[in-house]
Amino acid sequence: MNTMGLPGIRLAAFLFLSFLPALPDVRQCACDPARPETMEARECGLCREAEKQEKDQPVFFLKDINPRKPNRWLALPRVHGKVQHSLHLASPAERKRLWTAAVAKARELWGDEWGLAMNGDESRTQCHAHIHIGKLLKGVETANFVVVRGPEQIPAPTEGSGIWVHPEGARLHVHTAEQITETVLLR
Ligand SMILES: [Zn+2]
Ligand SMILES: [Zn+2]
Ligand SMILES: [Zn+2]
Repeated sequence: MNTMGLPGIRLAAFLFLSFLPALPDVRQCACDPARPETMEARECGLCREAEKQEKDQPVFFLKDINPRKPNRWLALPRVHGKVQHSLHLASPAERKRLWTAAVAKARELWGDEWGLAMNGDESRTQCHAHIHIGKLLKGVETANFVVVRGPEQIPAPTEGSGIWVHPEGARLHVHTAEQITETVLLR
């Protein structure tokens, strides 16, 4: 038996793991808009953007600044939510405002081919709540969805999970209980 290669493989694995960038866990984020110095971390970048917006505007939009996602926009609530903005903690009125605005913007950008996606809390790299707006990719449909009439009926995601939404005729499909959802959208 030749075990000569093994230490080399172990070293390679060790080096690989030690150079993986640590993903921020936004569930641990303790930022507080009353104390701007707590929002300096990279994962609080969207919180800082929210602070720049007009106070009377409940929802705002940003073009995704990631150069690898040139077709993407984001819809965000201006206020910072409880417990790092988890959508299951937002009120029905707050959720309705956010989804209604996001659907309108998505339609404006992509006609009937739009999709909206919110990643689960474990897969988010920004603590401020944000919905990805994009063009729905072909062939992403799954059997796990509920049908609703409009944005006001989009249910709250279960705690910490992601959600994605797309039109199906005059109704909407709401796909729930997934973590990484933005991959259903054109980058
Ligand atoms: Zn934060
Ligand atoms: Zn925030
Ligand atoms: Zn669907």
